[in-house]
Amino acid sequence: MKPNALPGALVISLDFELHWGMRDHLRPNEPEFAQLKGSRSTVTELASLFARRDVHATWATVGFLFASTHQELIQFSPTNRPQYTRPEFDPFTEPVGDNEELDPEHLAGSLIDMLDSTPGQEVASHTFSHFYCLEAGQDEDAFRADLTSARDIAQFRGIELKSLVFPRNQWNPHYASAIKEHGFTCIRGPQPSRGHEARAHGTQSVRNRAQRMTETYIGPTPPPTTAWDQVDQLQGLCDVPASAFLRPYNPKTKWGEPLRVRRLKAGIRDAARSGRIFHLWWHPHNFTKYPKQNFELLNLLIDEFEDQAKKEGMESLSMGDVATIVEHW
Ligand SMILES: [Zn+2]
Repeated sequence: MKPNALPGALVISLDFELHWGMRDHLRPNEPEFAQLKGSRSTVTELASLFARRDVHATWATVGFLFASTHQELIQFSPTNRPQYTRPEFDPFTEPVGDNEELDPEHLAGSLIDMLDSTPGQEVASHTFSHFYCLEAGQDEDAFRADLTSARDIAQFRGIELKSLVFPRNQWNPHYASAIKEHGFTCIRGPQPSRGHEARAHGTQSVRNRAQRMTETYIGPTPPPTTAWDQVDQLQGLCDVPASAFLRPYNPKTKWGEPLRVRRLKAGIRDAARSGRIFHLWWHPHNFTKYPKQNFELLNLLIDEFEDQAKKEGMESLSMGDVATIVEHW
């Protein structure tokens, strides 16, 4: 099918990382760490909601989490590791328990198996070690070694990786061929609006953060969507850029909830009517503190999607589904 004849699509991706995505600023003795164990059941709940409502999603998972035991994690760890200038970014110094039961914040092989056997769910990569592609001290060789480990541990669980999401959205265009050579066909590029440019830590300005926060409620409506013919961009690598981050519910900004819902629904409708792609992303742990409010919002968005599926033929796709369509037109 030609790109201009394709229906609109809702793409959902989740950055699944447990402690690995926040270990530089959250230590195990802090109260928020205790929530990570609970976020494992959020993963199960989200997957069963998606299966029940026939929603496809991409689970961009840190490679360490594919391991069920510390031994497996060691077995697949690369020997060439990033030598970050900031030592707090080095994940290989993190103490890890013997198995998933003893260390549910760092090992999650059983959850990977669950996701892989849930209909419509794509297990994808968030790099092996939550690799920061724009930080000082890392290089392309270390990145390649990281991707090899990610691919090998996924194969160990019987999974072929197709899609990749960059930690902290640090997209480094110089790494496009490394990504392709490791078998990936799809990435989630940075959201194409102000305040979302790919940046290294410490160069994120307060203004950028404020811009992103304000945008949740009163940003451009509808949020940016992607045309099908813009997807195949990088020498055969599909880029499905983010449209919006599903920010966790916060009682302090309760006033803004109706605006936020309206804006996100407008994005889904706009993509449906114009045959474009609306890409929503978040982390499973974002739902853990206020599960009721967060799941309510997600269900409202899925209601809107179902409405648009009936009216406009909108489809629910994973990033991998998008790449498969693009490869075959
Ligand atoms: Zn992450």
